Amino acid sequence: MKQSLYFAKTRKETPKDAQEISHKLLMRGDYIDQLASGIYTLLPLGLRVHQKIVNIIREEMNGIGSQELLMPALHPKSIWTKTGRWNVYKGEMYQFEDKSGHWFGLGPTHEEIITTIVANRINSFRDLPQALYQIQTKFRDEARPKAGLLRGKEFIMKDLYSFHATKEDFDKFYETVTEAYLRIFKRCGVDAFPVQASGGAFTKEITREFMIKTGAGEDTTLICDHCGWAANKEVAENLRKKCPKCGGEIKQYTTVEAGHVFHLGTGFSEKLGASFIDENGDKKPIIMGCYGLGTTRIMASVVEVNNDKKGIIWPSEVAPFSVHILSLGSDIKVKQEAQALEDYLQKEGIEVLYDDRDLSAGEKFADADLLGIPLRAVISEKTLSQGMVEIKYRKDTEARLVTRGDLINAAKTKN
Ligand SMILES: [Zn+2]
Repeated sequence: MKQSLYFAKTRKETPKDAQEISHKLLMRGDYIDQLASGIYTLLPLGLRVHQKIVNIIREEMNGIGSQELLMPALHPKSIWTKTGRWNVYKGEMYQFEDKSGHWFGLGPTHEEIITTIVANRINSFRDLPQALYQIQTKFRDEARPKAGLLRGKEFIMKDLYSFHATKEDFDKFYETVTEAYLRIFKRCGVDAFPVQASGGAFTKEITREFMIKTGAGEDTTLICDHCGWAANKEVAENLRKKCPKCGGEIKQYTTVEAGHVFHLGTGFSEKLGASFIDENGDKKPIIMGCYGLGTTRIMASVVEVNNDKKGIIWPSEVAPFSVHILSLGSDIKVKQEAQALEDYLQKEGIEVLYDDRDLSAGEKFADADLLGIPLRAVISEKTLSQGMVEIKYRKDTEARLVTRGDLINAAKTKN
């Protein structure tokens, strides 16, 4: 892809209302556009990153045997009143009357919908377990949306729901999902750790949150640096200072909640009639779990923990492109060589952004640093005379001269 034809336009100035580093850099790199407070467009570069994150999640969710579906965002009030959550969510959920006098809400979560779907299809213990997920736009009436993609009124989430005949089976799957989540975070280039938390409007049980340490979070997490024990402030209130597991010192960190897993028990299945006949012929409510991951929030979190003064440093698996070619100067031979290199890399299946614009070297380097593509490849009169390419990893400071073959290897190596 040639940068001269690319839609995105980087900017030097930081948007006035942007406080958090991810908000600033995603706006300056033209990854996102702000329509209104808490409402964003994923521009072509931003969508590329988001799709990579979503693909990682799909691979991991399919890998643990869950199946993807897509539920509506628009929900009739009647289904939410069956669980009593229409009122619980008042203030947080967009609720409105249509022209024929029927009430609807925009879904902040989908337990009511999925449980009804499952209730109509599951009859026997032989039909269980099941795990179903979607990747979908969610809505939340935030009073003060802030921090860019970290907290919005409209955002994208992966939500998974599981259905089990026994608590033991649920417990096993809960751990399987936890492991899959840790793999997802690792592949996205962020360290997240599971934390005990309260379940809020979902369940009275203790649940598990996945927290990413950042400077920009709105949650406070207490972590034992010695053994990794962690809990959110509410849960850990009485413990403070000492770790209950190893007695080590507990430190306080600012974190972003990037995922949450809940044991729902049988509350939803009882209210919505989702039951099954067990081996002895007895009718029982299905045991449920739900598991959320904020995909746009993960995108912002990746930037929060992978950046420097000059811009974003994308981890290789979620980068919008793998290689950023820069041609320096106006020499026609340099341009021809850069073009040939783009064709060559693309034939090898490597995603390339080629900065072919008539700008100074300084401007091109600044933009490359801001956009944060993991590997930069420079073609200039100097490199051309040596028959080489100058490469530099975004995360490193040192550049070096390599052959085309070495460049292919560097581009294919995960970093
Ligand atoms: Zn400890």
